[in-house]
Amino acid sequence: MAGRDGGGGRGGGYGGGRGGGGGGRGGGGGGRGGGGGRRRPEPEPIRGVRDDARLSSELLRMDGASYGRYKTLKGDWDFGDFTLTVERVQADPFAPPSRVRVLVPDSGIPKSAWGDPVRRRATADYLGRRARRLLKGSLLKIDTGGQEVIERSSCRLTDGGFDLRIGIDLPGHGRRIDGRGAEREFCRTLPGLVDDLDWEEIDEAEAVAFADSVADTVALRSRLAERGLVAFVADGAVLPRSSGVSDQPMTSGVVPFDSPESLRVSVDLPHRGTVTGMGVPEGITLIVGGGFHGKSTLLHALERGVYDHVPGDGRELVVTRDDAVKIRAEEGRRVERTDVSAFVRNLPTGADTSDFRTENASGSTSQAANICEAVEAGAHTLLVDEDSTATNLMIRDERMQALVHGDREPLIPFIDLVRPLHRDHGVSTVLVMGGSGDYFDVADLVVMLDAYHPHDVTARARALAHDRADADFALPRARVVDPGSVDDSTARGRGRIKRRDMDVLVFGDSDIDVRALEQFVDPGQITGAGLALRALVRGGHLDGTRTLAEALAALDRALAADGVTLLGGDFGGDYALPRRFEVAATLNRLRTLRVRDLHR
Ligand code: ADP
Ligand code: MG
Repeated sequence: MAGRDGGGGRGGGYGGGRGGGGGGRGGGGGGRGGGGGRRRPEPEPIRGVRDDARLSSELLRMDGASYGRYKTLKGDWDFGDFTLTVERVQADPFAPPSRVRVLVPDSGIPKSAWGDPVRRRATADYLGRRARRLLKGSLLKIDTGGQEVIERSSCRLTDGGFDLRIGIDLPGHGRRIDGRGAEREFCRTLPGLVDDLDWEEIDEAEAVAFADSVADTVALRSRLAERGLVAFVADGAVLPRSSGVSDQPMTSGVVPFDSPESLRVSVDLPHRGTVTGMGVPEGITLIVGGGFHGKSTLLHALERGVYDHVPGDGRELVVTRDDAVKIRAEEGRRVERTDVSAFVRNLPTGADTSDFRTENASGSTSQAANICEAVEAGAHTLLVDEDSTATNLMIRDERMQALVHGDREPLIPFIDLVRPLHRDHGVSTVLVMGGSGDYFDVADLVVMLDAYHPHDVTARARALAHDRADADFALPRARVVDPGSVDDSTARGRGRIKRRDMDVLVFGDSDIDVRALEQFVDPGQITGAGLALRALVRGGHLDGTRTLAEALAALDRALAADGVTLLGGDFGGDYALPRRFEVAATLNRLRTLRVRDLHR
């Protein structure tokens, strides 16, 4: 297991100090001084032979006993071809599910399916989804992804086998144990699942095709930079989703993507062979078109193109460079000492905008901070949609300039900075803008969507463009975070890391609002980001001298080497790998965050 080396006995128990995973808890039990007298001692785990036959007889014997007896199941159970570890046991039937781990050292998975990191991730994802289908109707639940294939804790491949983390609502009749029900889950459903996940039993062609598809996407993404592209949208791709609340592909009335000839490129992929589609070049790309003609749908697909999609999604070959970040306005967010001076000068408060702090940003200053922080974290592609921007940060027309003179207006609009961002710092922008032609002045490429068909209208837009003087984009100053301000183990929080829907990450005593982070595409990534904040501190990456960007890069290297479970340690729940940009953005929204220093 890729544990946190060196992290040893940090900060005591996560979520209430249970004595670790397998094996007896030696001396420690009982007298945990200090606590009020009401804490009941935990029952000792069952001792002696712990194999499947014993588990079966113990469960049947427990039938009707008080629910707390379930705790005696904790630890390892030897099922012959796999080990079941009961890691956490819920205190009552209404508590969050109990957690078990199933380790199958050898299920016959050939090396071709796990030999490289991409296929390992894809095959694990495939098996996890199969497990979820097989467990339907049982009390056992496994976390799997939606339309994206993201490394996660719930299903990992070993060399030839697999390692599952499963939740189970241990069955009860009121506060009494339903031993028969539990016996059925543990001693029938689970071994049945392990058998059905054996490589002999699965549809090998389908599993290989799944991994091939992911491998093609990864190959395609890795070729964008050498071609000078920030994104690629394959001909035939299905971009729209079935509804505003579903990520499934639209099925009827879809207009498949067809690239304009002038933008068509072809790429050779290892498995699918040659594919063609629209290459979105580096620089400034404008997406225009009438309302309801598919602009936002295209941008959403690009936002998600930083991830790999499952076969059948329709966006398998819609890929974006992995340093692309969606930018939006986010009124009310906190900003902690971010250098927004490229966008904001001469505030009425007289505040130094190269060291800008607010508990309550406006639409425009929040968007400026979002851009500067994305650039700080290493973004080289910005994805912007007029639907979610602050107009006054995007444009200022002549009449408004005539009315509100330069020195009364603290904002330098994005339109004056978008070219220097690219020219001087290599940061490209893809911008959806149907409401104003001002950006014709600065765009390198203008794509018009007409009833969902894209056309290259750059020449026509150029003919309408005016000369425009750029401003200067000075890179934001690099921030050094005070690691003590990133603390999940405060008195009340005691290290809680929990997610509320896709909206809030509970991090110790803090509630972090993550609603605006649209490139969190998987609930597990939000939990993963909370764990990443903890890992930034515990792993010594945020050490009070390194810049935030250096700390994020160091964590990325550690994750690349050890995999997502580096984040877990003693964490008992499910989580998935977040990107560094969402980790940074989560940190930036932590209301206790303190920045110690700013570097040029
Ligand atoms: P815009 O941003 O241009 O106003 P949207 O991207 O929001 O438009 O799309 C408007 C509607 O058209 C949405 O309901 C979307 O699902 C649908 N749509 C988008 N692209 C396609 C397509 N290629 N085929 C069919 N319907 C589409
Ligand atoms: Mg739109």
